[in-house]
Amino acid sequence: MNSFEADYFDGLSARGHSVQLSIREGVLNWVSDTVSGSAPLTQLRWDPAVGQTHAIIHLNDGGMFLVHDRALGAHWPHAAGVGLERWAQVLEGRMLYALGALLMAGALVFSGLRWGVPAAAQVVAGMLPEQMAQIVGDQTLKVLEGMWLAPSQLPETRQHALAQQLDALCKRASCPPYQLLFRQGQRIGANAMALPGGAVVVTDELVLLARHDEEIVAVLSHELGHVHARHGLRMALQSLGAGVILVAITGDLGNVSDVAAGLPALLLQTGYSRGMEREADDFALHWLRTACVSPQRFADILQRLDKRPTETGLFDSHPGTAERIRQFSQASSC
Ligand SMILES: [Zn+2]
Repeated sequence: MNSFEADYFDGLSARGHSVQLSIREGVLNWVSDTVSGSAPLTQLRWDPAVGQTHAIIHLNDGGMFLVHDRALGAHWPHAAGVGLERWAQVLEGRMLYALGALLMAGALVFSGLRWGVPAAAQVVAGMLPEQMAQIVGDQTLKVLEGMWLAPSQLPETRQHALAQQLDALCKRASCPPYQLLFRQGQRIGANAMALPGGAVVVTDELVLLARHDEEIVAVLSHELGHVHARHGLRMALQSLGAGVILVAITGDLGNVSDVAAGLPALLLQTGYSRGMEREADDFALHWLRTACVSPQRFADILQRLDKRPTETGLFDSHPGTAERIRQFSQASSC
């Protein structure tokens, strides 16, 4: 049987006696060279240890035990139910919990950055005035034109015909406000990208890669998905983190250039996030069916884009491409 060290005080004198306590069948027993006795646990009162103090067992006759052995608490039937004091004792006694608390704080900061910032960016992007999105989009385009894009070499009639086709389909399936821009892709090759404010850039190389105009339209519908969900602005905000999002909330347009600064490189190097791509694909799939354009068109051009070695771009091959192609191939037409 377990025995536990304690000091016994009889309540009459200040002198304590060192005793051994044990519990057996609901009865506390104590024994030493000079005293011994027993009492049912139901007649005793347990005062738990808090911090560095000792637990105390009060006897009915005014006597008490100062318990040195903390392990007794585990054997005391009501000790576990003592609540806060008990918790304080457990927590204070274990560094592991302190370490756990530290890890939890770290996890909170991490999840704040991982999920909090994107979530805030989404909310803020929805709140910001269209004017701000336009300015960010214009600045982004200017940087892209300075470094990556050249004026389109496509005949004006060809550009016009494609713009007309998309415009006509937008009367069947609704489109967010957009401006279609043709540019030569040069190093970024066959590509298309949606910018904040609704500009959709499509490269000459992509137009030439397409074997059917509906393939171009299909790519554009995906870009319209990005425009619809304001992904450009969201990503620009997201990349700058919580501090700048807060500044952006104040609507101070003086900070627009900060917001726009990182976007061109982001768009070209990493593209939109997987989640955003999925949202744009969902939009495109729904749009194509409503506009009565076969979703297979998107799968076809995606397949061709995937096979082309490009230096960089939104359509860089990644493990998700095969899945995307399958999704559009298997989708039924209108
Ligand atoms: Zn995309």
